[in-house]
Amino acid sequence: MSNMSYCRFNNTVADMEDCVEALEEDGIESLSESETEKAKRLYELAQEYIEIYQTECSDNFCPECGSILKTVMGERSDCSYGEYKECPNCEYSNGE
Ligand SMILES: [Zn+2]
Repeated sequence: MSNMSYCRFNNTVADMEDCVEALEEDGIESLSESETEKAKRLYELAQEYIEIYQTECSDNFCPECGSILKTVMGERSDCSYGEYKECPNCEYSNGE
């Protein structure tokens, strides 16, 4: 099934979660030969995706600890209201 460009990431997240769950719960040995090959290909693609995402979306990573930042809406320290990013693992926030 191909994805429309406006929702491909949305759809792929659900499919990827399904694959992660299948590997976790049933294991690689539960897959057919062709599915095992595709699982390997998915591993390669995931590595490629991580490299590209880290390069293209570097401002989505915490400069303090390297975790992926969460986008939040709220009041910023300058009393404006809007979107800013904060780290789920340390105190970093660009809203301050
Ligand atoms: Zn951090």
